[in-house]
Amino acid sequence: MTMNEETLRQGLVTVMREMDASGLNHGTAGNASARLGEHFLVTPSGIPAGQLTPDSIVEIDLSGKYEGSFRPTSEWRMHAGLLAGRPDVNAVVHCHSQYATTLACANKPIPPLHYMTAVSGGAEILVAPYALFGSAELADAVIATLKGRRACLMANHGQIALGRSLPEALMIAREVEVQASFYYGTLAIGGPTLLSSEQMEAVVGAFLSYGQKPVKPD
Ligand code: 13P
Ligand code: ZN
Repeated sequence: MTMNEETLRQGLVTVMREMDASGLNHGTAGNASARLGEHFLVTPSGIPAGQLTPDSIVEIDLSGKYEGSFRPTSEWRMHAGLLAGRPDVNAVVHCHSQYATTLACANKPIPPLHYMTAVSGGAEILVAPYALFGSAELADAVIATLKGRRACLMANHGQIALGRSLPEALMIAREVEVQASFYYGTLAIGGPTLLSSEQMEAVVGAFLSYGQKPVKPD
């Protein structure tokens, strides 16, 4: 096993434990994946985060073929389809976090009420249409909704976030949950005041130079 594979297996265990510990997930809800060359590493189906080990992580290909004694997450089609179709993405996390799922159960996309809705890759955080968990139909619906985006809600189910790395995907899922809680809160006090499309375009522009950038040599 390569160092990269070991790191990714441990990273998947860590991300599932962090989602559980921070309340984004509970029980056996949620799953995660990471790109490993031409193949993908996914979490096993139906195992609580506290019982996961690097050995229980499953390597699959795009057809779902895997070896070993652990069955891959029921959502392997969604994870493999996203990683295969999005070269900009190396990691995917899915969870049933409280506020995002509450809005997803009411089929309510999160409008641009706060500038950080832009972490989703668009002004609004969309809701993918409902389909049975683990189905090809759900994978297709989520992949279509996430076109050009990094996060969405999943109707009557939860949310999903994409990143260049597992920590980035987790950070986006956390932000989606926070945005969902803001929207839920504003709905209770008369509804949000939304940012305009010009204001949201300015946010996307400002993100390009936000944070620590490598210092350019003179
Ligand atoms: P798995 O345990 O098969 O990953 O399923 C959990 C889940 O969240 C299904 O959408
Ligand atoms: Zn789920």
